[in-house]
Amino acid sequence: MLMRITVLIALLFAFRISFSQTGEICITFDDLPAVTYDFKGIEFKQQLIGKLIKTFDVHKIQAIGFVNESRLYEGGTLVDERVALLRMWLDGGYELGNHTYAHKDYHKVSFNEFTGDILNGEQVCRDLVKEYGQEYRYFRHPFLHIGPDKEKHDALKSFLNDHNYIEAPVSIDNDDYMFAYAYSKARTQDNKALMAKIGNAYVDYMEKKLLFFEGQSRKLLGRNIKHILLLHANLIDADYLDELARRYRDHGYRFISMREALEDDAYQMQITTYGNWGISWIDRWALSAGKKGDFFKGDPLVPDYVKAALDNQ
Ligand SMILES: [Zn+2]
Repeated sequence: MLMRITVLIALLFAFRISFSQTGEICITFDDLPAVTYDFKGIEFKQQLIGKLIKTFDVHKIQAIGFVNESRLYEGGTLVDERVALLRMWLDGGYELGNHTYAHKDYHKVSFNEFTGDILNGEQVCRDLVKEYGQEYRYFRHPFLHIGPDKEKHDALKSFLNDHNYIEAPVSIDNDDYMFAYAYSKARTQDNKALMAKIGNAYVDYMEKKLLFFEGQSRKLLGRNIKHILLLHANLIDADYLDELARRYRDHGYRFISMREALEDDAYQMQITTYGNWGISWIDRWALSAGKKGDFFKGDPLVPDYVKAALDNQ
């Protein structure tokens, strides 16, 4: 009897879990090894990356980080301790991808200059990831600038294809960098109350972003796609990823790899409308389908006091 009840409880539990699971999301981090504003020391960066990786382990987040190799150098010399920050990701079993060498803007520089920056951006990492049995295969566009028109986007797609890279799109774009900057400034001022206020507002904002883009996906495609979230390797994400992951899990999400996310057919959809914007791929598909004005309403806003920190730089 006891056995039967145990089995029943186990079945009910499995049933509940399978029904409460409503979404899948890949969490990605740009601007590796780290964006630290006023805090330049290597120990600060080690702690920041260490904290992120600990949270990945706790929540089984299959994270991928996109590297700007220029950040590995100081005065033209490769800094081993900075390369070691990338090894922390790889040692943990997490993936790395290319985010160009110097974070050049494809909407401002020529095709040749930009693609040169992509190739410069793999000098260290292509061999580094090989040591861990990985391939350097994903590419994330700085500023999410894929090209201001079809011609320039197509040229980049061909280049990436020829060099065995896969575009790493984003479905949930956001302004985490604004919170990150305000949070870092509050830390510089040693204002712990303000840091906590910004941190909590950040988690609320990112939760709203998830729900907003989930809704946009359902409106546009009639279903919730496998999402790809853009974050940055900064202090606020290190300090609040644990809370953010809990919120996302509470909404029924599980964390998937970039490879799994790209198995969603949505990412094969053609983009036909271009502009000087760096936006979510859901927005790109919506614009390409002729959606206007009202369709995009309700995108969560960054609080004014957070924005103000950037104005007072
Ligand atoms: Zn970036």
